[in-house]
Amino acid sequence: MRSFKGQRRGGRTRLSFSAVLGLTLSLTLFACAREKDAAAAPKESAPSTAVPAATDASTSADPAPPPAFNSARAMEYVKEIVAFGPRPIGSANHKKVEDYIHAHLKGDQVEDDAFTIDASEGKFPVRNIIAKYPGMRDGIIVIASHYDTNYPLRDTNYVGANDGASSSALLLEIANQLRGKKLDGYSVWLLWDDAEEAIKLPWTDTNSVYGVRHLAQKWQDDGTIKNIKAFILEDMIGDADLNIERDENSTPWLEDLIYQAATRLGYQSHFFARTNQIEDDHKPFMQRGIPSADLIDLEYGYNNVFWHTTQDTVDKLSPKSLEIVGMVTLETVQMLDKK
Ligand SMILES: [Zn+2]
Repeated sequence: MRSFKGQRRGGRTRLSFSAVLGLTLSLTLFACAREKDAAAAPKESAPSTAVPAATDASTSADPAPPPAFNSARAMEYVKEIVAFGPRPIGSANHKKVEDYIHAHLKGDQVEDDAFTIDASEGKFPVRNIIAKYPGMRDGIIVIASHYDTNYPLRDTNYVGANDGASSSALLLEIANQLRGKKLDGYSVWLLWDDAEEAIKLPWTDTNSVYGVRHLAQKWQDDGTIKNIKAFILEDMIGDADLNIERDENSTPWLEDLIYQAATRLGYQSHFFARTNQIEDDHKPFMQRGIPSADLIDLEYGYNNVFWHTTQDTVDKLSPKSLEIVGMVTLETVQMLDKK
């Protein structure tokens, strides 16, 4: 992904936000292509302004128990994915992760969206993996994570513990929670999407999010997209110091709902203290009018120093962060079901 926001280092001038808090420039960062906003853009805590705080009434109105989530098991998944090593598209390790995900979905309704991209660096096989958990209500909630690691770093020891592995593991644990249950609300489709990373810098609209761009078009063509009620993206959600950003490229009401879900669970202090503007796997769905939210923490180490470096390792992560994001995601699904 990449983000547009002021930051301390790196980046290029890309967008001008004249009115935003007196900032006249914003810098581009290529984060998963992105970057981080660090100390610059101190856009005051979103919760007090953009986010309607959950009221006591709304907090107590939900009699449903909090969702379950096994954080220790999720953390084991992170470690197992990381143990494969670098997992860029086209690599043998990438294929191992595909097999690993499939092995964990045995018996589930799984569909692959496999195709080939012809990029500047060559042709690559790309595979999106979708696990479907049917609900009683007409409509689909998609929860997504990319599982490839950064291609330009393919010849280093870069393992993407947070960037790719944490969110992919999170989805595997969410699958455990959904499996075999009768879902009263919408169907939930978990999407391990591929080739999110730019193959070669710079990140552009046509050199990024290859997997999701293909799938969104496919679902548009076959009519599936009309049934998608929300697209929730997870990216870099394992940082022990968890601070999920509010994203100006996401759907405000869906982010408000996520904040309410976090508040119900007592986790609101980890959400939306900072605001960013992020391009990520949710973009192809946003462009098609699907309510979408990117749950991402771009303060991965001071000034995002660990992002897209060989320091993106498991020791920076915490099972508690996986639990916070996993539970808030599942609580958000429950709230969407009641909307
Ligand atoms: Zn990345």
